[in-house]
Amino acid sequence: MENIYGNRQLLDTLAAMASSGRTAHSVMICGDRGTGRKLMARYYTQALMCEQPHNGVPCGVCHACTNVEKGIHPDVIFPEKTGKLGNYSVATAREVIADAYVKPNNSSGCKVYIFADCHNVDTRTQNTLLKLIEEPPEYAYFIFTCGSKSEFLPTIISRCVCFTASPCTEEEARAALADKGYSADDIDRAVDCFHGNIGMCESYIGDEALRKRVDLTKAIADSIIGKDEYALSVGLFSAGRERNDVREVLSMLDKLFRDAAVLSKDSGAGTIGCSRRAAQILSSRLTAGQSARLHERIEKAWRAVESNVSIPLALTALGAEIMDIVG
Ligand SMILES: [Zn+2]
Repeated sequence: MENIYGNRQLLDTLAAMASSGRTAHSVMICGDRGTGRKLMARYYTQALMCEQPHNGVPCGVCHACTNVEKGIHPDVIFPEKTGKLGNYSVATAREVIADAYVKPNNSSGCKVYIFADCHNVDTRTQNTLLKLIEEPPEYAYFIFTCGSKSEFLPTIISRCVCFTASPCTEEEARAALADKGYSADDIDRAVDCFHGNIGMCESYIGDEALRKRVDLTKAIADSIIGKDEYALSVGLFSAGRERNDVREVLSMLDKLFRDAAVLSKDSGAGTIGCSRRAAQILSSRLTAGQSARLHERIEKAWRAVESNVSIPLALTALGAEIMDIVG
């Protein structure tokens, strides 16, 4: 089994549940992308299915553990996203319900459904699943991973035991990336941008498109520092028209303003954004109040993008509002 870094408390809680036999049938694991949500889901699945667990900790080497790790265990099901927005559809929920009443065929006697990266889950899909989650067959388990609980209806949340996956320390991220065989240079650059978020560090090393979005975020920050309205609108429009890409750039930009606000109070504070340098300059140019207002505006643009407002329209409004605040 690969070494797992960080989220120690969460892992211990999951193992304790498995060893006490009081296992939660529905578990929700929230957290930013890259913080190990799916890894935690897999760990809980292994804890449920392991043939020789030690105090609830999966052994990592038995038949069940290896098959779960490889993603080929026949009783670990990853429902498909067949909805229009690339989300889980009602049809998928119905298939899961039908399948959940077929007993598992393995020594652990468990069957686990992992709904990974839940986002924009249709209310009807949730309502369809609700009955199953309220009264699951004794062998069935459901794990949802998502950015935030708010993706779900209160009725679903109330049936789940909810956990939050957190980023590791930078040292842990460095060790994890070294385990995976990345070069020291790559690790330095990635940890500089994404700190203890191992998943995002890995994406940064392997995904040129993400590196470009990071550079773009830095360029947007520079245009704000220089109060250059033209460069700002070029930057914002370069984020593209893909909802997810725009969301990512806005999120990285937001973290820079958060860092700027923190650094203006304590210049030695830790940062979470993709450029400490940009945050330092922003902190010397903006008051904490300005940073807070910029954060609000970015959240507003983000919500607009989420709610199907035209992306160029939302970004144009954001550019004007940023200039208003910093101008
Ligand atoms: Zn095992």
